[in-house]
Amino acid sequence: MGILAGKRALIVGVATERSIAWGIAEAMHGQGAELAFSYANDKLRERVEPLAHSIGSKLLMPLDVQLDEQIDAAFALISSEWGALDILVHAVAFAPREALAGSFTANTSREAFRIAHDVSSYSLTALARAAAPLMAGRAGAMLTMSYLGAERSLPSYNVMGLAKASLEANVRFLAADLGPRNIRVNAISAGPIKTLAAAGIGGFRRILAHVAQVSPLRRNVSTQDVGNAAAFLCSDMAAGITGEILYVDNGFHTVGMSFGDSAAE
Ligand code: NAD
Repeated sequence: MGILAGKRALIVGVATERSIAWGIAEAMHGQGAELAFSYANDKLRERVEPLAHSIGSKLLMPLDVQLDEQIDAAFALISSEWGALDILVHAVAFAPREALAGSFTANTSREAFRIAHDVSSYSLTALARAAAPLMAGRAGAMLTMSYLGAERSLPSYNVMGLAKASLEANVRFLAADLGPRNIRVNAISAGPIKTLAAAGIGGFRRILAHVAQVSPLRRNVSTQDVGNAAAFLCSDMAAGITGEILYVDNGFHTVGMSFGDSAAE
């Protein structure tokens, strides 16, 4: 029996089979969870629907996190179909492309800042507010996806780094607020992975190459690596963990300096 047997999870953030959310979905499915999926717009529905069906998931709904009425409708559907929810996975981020390259100072407009923070951080608060009542009386778990840019400056990540810093604070405040209701809230800070969202970040291939060269494990993480950690964090095996940012990055964030050699001399 898997560590998520009997649990029901809503996965928000699948766009393609390369999505981190899809890696999480596969791992959670493998551990026995029953899954529902959302898609951000009609175009993505065509991609998400076959993926959901491939693992026997029938509950699928539109959910643009910028639209309060779609958030309400999504959780009303879960309430009517399932009556309760154990796990919420939030794997959503967006910033206008021009803000994700070049000079942070020059390219961070007020509008890009607003959109990045609304879609990538506020949406977690909004989804948590809607999901929490469905987790009443259960051991609820919420999980979001962050990146090292929340803590350190990195090329091109720019305004998204500020949004991820906000998201990580969001995790801590939600954990404090929802903990007394036995709902845990955590984030995974993943190493870089080639996905649709990542393709919008200037010089992303160089970021991947750098991490593979200097991270302690000398490679990049996969969506399976992230998915397995996500399944653990949302299971009762992690019952004592909340407000945490767990790095799944092959140790990259622990490195102060590396010559990138294959072995110590
Ligand atoms: P992805 O493009 O596969 O997923 C991003 C998702 O965000 C898509 O499903 C997209 O539809 C959704 N989205 C964007 N705007 C939305 C909106 N208004 N409403 C609803 N959904 C919306 O890319 P990914 O890399 O799997 O990204 C998932 C999460 O992982 C993001 O939070 C991202 O910042 C984070 N992350 C990615 C990496 C990486 O290197 N790929 C590393 C660390 C963290």
